Amino acid sequence: MTKRKKIAVIGGGVSGLAAAKAFGERGHEVCGFERSHDFGGVWELSRSYPDVQTQSPKDLYCYTDHPMPESYPEWPKGPQVHAYLHSYAEKHDLAHLFRLNTNIKTMERRPDSQPGWTLTVEADGREWTEDFDFVSVCTGQFSERKIISHPGQEAFVARGGQVMHSSQYTEPGICRGKDVVILGGSKSATDIAVNAAQNGARSVRLVYRENVWRVPYYVGGINFKRLLYMRAQEQQFNQWGKGPFQRLVAAALKPIVWMNFRGLETILKAQLKLKKHNMLPKVPIEKEVSCAVPVVTPGLIECLDKGMIKPVLGSFESYTDEGLKLTTGETVPCDVAILAVGWNLGVPFLPQEYQNKLVEDDGQYRLYRLSVNPDLPDMGFVGFNSSFCTVLSAEMIANWLVRFADGKLKKQPSAADMNENIGMMLDWRRNERPAAQTYGGLCSAPFHFKHFDELLSDMGAAKTKRSNPFAERFSFPSAPAYGTFLASAPQYRAE
Ligand SMILES: Cc1cc2nc3c(=O)[nH]c(=O)nc-3n(C[C@H](O)[C@H](O)[C@H](O)COP(=O)(O)OP(=O)(O)OC[C@H]3O[C@@H](n4cnc5c(N)ncnc54)[C@H](O)[C@@H]3O)c2cc1C
Repeated sequence: MTKRKKIAVIGGGVSGLAAAKAFGERGHEVCGFERSHDFGGVWELSRSYPDVQTQSPKDLYCYTDHPMPESYPEWPKGPQVHAYLHSYAEKHDLAHLFRLNTNIKTMERRPDSQPGWTLTVEADGREWTEDFDFVSVCTGQFSERKIISHPGQEAFVARGGQVMHSSQYTEPGICRGKDVVILGGSKSATDIAVNAAQNGARSVRLVYRENVWRVPYYVGGINFKRLLYMRAQEQQFNQWGKGPFQRLVAAALKPIVWMNFRGLETILKAQLKLKKHNMLPKVPIEKEVSCAVPVVTPGLIECLDKGMIKPVLGSFESYTDEGLKLTTGETVPCDVAILAVGWNLGVPFLPQEYQNKLVEDDGQYRLYRLSVNPDLPDMGFVGFNSSFCTVLSAEMIANWLVRFADGKLKKQPSAADMNENIGMMLDWRRNERPAAQTYGGLCSAPFHFKHFDELLSDMGAAKTKRSNPFAERFSFPSAPAYGTFLASAPQYRAE
């Protein structure tokens, strides 16, 4: 018999909802904590910038049993994703499991040397502790803003200039009639640049350090989900854990794979006019693909063509009386500086001694299946396996984690198994696929199928692939199909 546990779910975004459902479904008592006033995480309305929309097409950004509404566009807007997450919480009656406006301040091992953790909880100006048997951390990778500043910033602000993090750009009025300079080249940087340019900014400059490959929603007129998200494509990247035979096959196919990626680069160069805009990356595309590869913001190329956005390869040096001095030596006019410099990864409420066990000196996370660490007992992460279809990834790992917590995986790993696998993955990231080190190694893209195969095999799923081998090889991961694969894993209920 599996004992019913008291589970803390920290975070009420995509991952927290997936975890609450997975643990609740197995009969556990779930207590969810969300520090914001609402569910949604990055999609919560007060945190999203105007016109934000998904990078993933809608059928790749949904839970297995809850498609996005037919009426939604292929790439839904932020408020639509937010409404979708609410409808999922409603469908599975998850809202009552969460306490909103409630922050987890710290977590410590239970003093009575029982399994589990004591959480310090903060809400309404009060603080108290609560004990849990298991903690599911679902706090995402976008919770702590990266704060940077440059010389002269204080005087610039005193003169009426504005400096803000990209997540603080919540309405286009901020930029109307102003000279805007955005630091960063990620998707949020280009989204804001296009929004500002199309909403009356006097000038918009995008200042970033290096050119990266970007993928448009349609590559050569074809929705990129039909070209890039497939088993056949994924197997062309250098995956982990290849045996001697797979290495031999990979070596034999190398010229074909090389040609495939050069073909893709040629299309992208022409379609995105990369040479004309001096935006041609130096690294071959197959070496760069990871969760950090941005999708091209609709309107970006048109704005570049019309000179409404000026790209500059460089960085900020200092704020001056004339504006903003860049590392290129030029000084550009600036009323508003937007820092699209990302987020600090981390689990700040975890004691330092455990953080040291979790994160290596070079910032790489030690997580088996991107979820658990043998030196951090009675806890696991959901959503730290981010991908190009993070909703599905979160649901898959949540279903894996509840079985791990209950000792119900068919392949329940020992501490030695986990450490060996973690070591192998760290070695692969550092030596064979540096792009996989993005976000502390917490990214399963572009290896969605391989990652899901491992999770399903661990869970003992009887069905792990679609019956049609052609569809399995040449089409994108189907959320409903993964629902049937999950249902084919042994079921149980804690009591
Ligand atoms: C603009 C944008 C667009 C994106 N588009 C895509 C896309 O198209 N496809 C894709 O796959 N991914 C996309 N992503 C990635 C996105 O982060 C994930 O898809 C997903 O939303 C992450 O959900 P999460 O629940 O793991 O984390 P979050 O959404 O970050 O949620 C974490 C939650 O934890 C809460 N929290 C944090 N610390 C505490 C604490 N101490 N106590 C209590 N609560 C806490 C936060 O308030 C937050 O609500 C996008 C991200 C951004 C920012």
